[in-house]
Amino acid sequence: MLMNSAAASLRECAVSAPVDSDCDVPLAGLIDDARVLGVCLSDADACQFARYHAELVRWNRRANLTAITGWEAVRTRHFLDSLSAAAVLPAATLRSGAIIDIGSGAGFPGIPLKLAYPSMRVTLVEATAKKTEFLARICAELDLQDTMALNGRAETLAREPDLRERFDAVCARAVADTATLAELTLPFARVGGLVALHKKGDIRAELERARCAIETLGGALREVKPVNIPGLNDDRALVVLEKMQSTSVKYPRRPGIPAKRPLARL
Ligand code: SAH
Repeated sequence: MLMNSAAASLRECAVSAPVDSDCDVPLAGLIDDARVLGVCLSDADACQFARYHAELVRWNRRANLTAITGWEAVRTRHFLDSLSAAAVLPAATLRSGAIIDIGSGAGFPGIPLKLAYPSMRVTLVEATAKKTEFLARICAELDLQDTMALNGRAETLAREPDLRERFDAVCARAVADTATLAELTLPFARVGGLVALHKKGDIRAELERARCAIETLGGALREVKPVNIPGLNDDRALVVLEKMQSTSVKYPRRPGIPAKRPLARL
């Protein structure tokens, strides 16, 4: 397993397993497993994850945020999976960059990344009002600075001058296939910035189908990095796109069109 030395060097890792604090879930497992991913969490950081979990469970009935609610499952499938994106983000971005999470849902991967790298500026985009309400609430509850939850569709928000081509990195997890996501994410990335997409399973055909969309939108496929989440034995990877040139003003197309008619193969 490749350690992300850039990420690891940003913050000092705890050497021994910490004593659980007043949080009522076992935090040591989270800290240890995050370290395997190259992400260092303090006891206080881990406690923030526990608060996040409690609030997620509390709001779940109202906003239908997640199918899994137990601490162990949320820790692994939401928190650690989200944190795995740190392995492909440049150290400068993790230190003081601006990232945007498209289709954030209950905050994944944006909020776990913010908790681990608190000086990053994080924008969360979510189309469903109830989920965005939760995002705003959790940002206030966890006292997250420089973090914003925006309600709206990526297709529309990407036309805002304050958001278009403004971000060092764009993340998205479980939102759409890569061809559609290229159109929903690349317009937000600055030239030289990155897009990091969480993917599962055999994605070779999906990437082949996305080739035209990626190029049309000014991007290039830079890397497909396999990730091993401790406790999960499935085929996970991060697809990393690089923004090579400015995206044409034609894109993204109207809401719904990138999913309905993904830009076709060259
Ligand atoms: N990223 C989260 C949520 C995935 S579900 C996670 O990994 O758990 C996909 C989410 O994307 C939904 O909440 C949906 O409302 C949102 N979404 C889908 N298309 C969108 C769009 N075009 N713009 C903004 N949000 C979108």
